Amino acid sequence: VLTVRNASKSFGARKALDGVSLNVSRGEMIALIGPSGSGKSTLLRSITGLQTIDAGPGVIEAFGQPVQSAGKVSKKVRDVRIRIGFIFQQFNLVGRLTLFSNVALGSLGRIPVVRGLFGLWPKETKQAAMAALARVGVADYAGQRANTLSGGQQQRGAIARALVQKAKVILADEPVASLDPVSARKVMELLSDLNASDGLTVVVTLHQVDYATRYCKRVVALKAGKLVYDGPASGLDRARLIDIYGPEFEDVF
Ligand code: ATP
Ligand code: MG
Repeated sequence: VLTVRNASKSFGARKALDGVSLNVSRGEMIALIGPSGSGKSTLLRSITGLQTIDAGPGVIEAFGQPVQSAGKVSKKVRDVRIRIGFIFQQFNLVGRLTLFSNVALGSLGRIPVVRGLFGLWPKETKQAAMAALARVGVADYAGQRANTLSGGQQQRGAIARALVQKAKVILADEPVASLDPVSARKVMELLSDLNASDGLTVVVTLHQVDYATRYCKRVVALKAGKLVYDGPASGLDRARLIDIYGPEFEDVF
């Protein structure tokens, strides 16, 4: 469902992505690892089309359609982007809105914006939002303002919103980095279950290598913008990890 071919992205003289190629098939759950600054977030942002890549040979496609567009975003590109849900480390919910409203907002782009802004959610949207909240296990908190929820609850809410958006692919950028170990494990298990039971394709960046190997069969590693590993989690032995993270790896982990 995702194709990245020879993508590069420079910020001034720094190459955040350096000729990265990656194919993601439908139904995969992939961990994206690598040291800080290696380009993980840049790659995910480029796949959503939120960020342009350098002009040149690079191509990024989702569902067989290019996601990158210079200038005006066509309806075709928008239709592709809406099928990709993006989850951030910092929960990206609107704090003063209820959890329910935040999740219902996922339907924007599929229903007219004004209806959503006035809280006039169509019945189908209400049902979809409640179903999504139940699916991720936070239906009891629907009426609570997002900024009063725990980090784990907010992260589940962000995932519920992606479900209402009818995303088929979830890109999660360090979704558990701000969470305590128990909440983190629950969010990883939720992503894993959405992948296994609901057929969602998941690409998740992680700082913890043990999460990557526990929850993902395939692991992709970036180092200084280059893809340096793409293979089974079982192939990440000590030597390989030192190659990816450098000799300090042993002190850190
Ligand atoms: P982390 O694990 O710390 O989140 P990362 O692997 O996600 O790191 P990126 O955020 O993708 O790394 O950054 C890759 C490189 O690109 C870094 O050197 C960063 O400083 C640079 N970079 C990213 N975004 C910008 C920007 N908007 N302007 C300038 N440089 C940027
Ligand atoms: Mg990052």
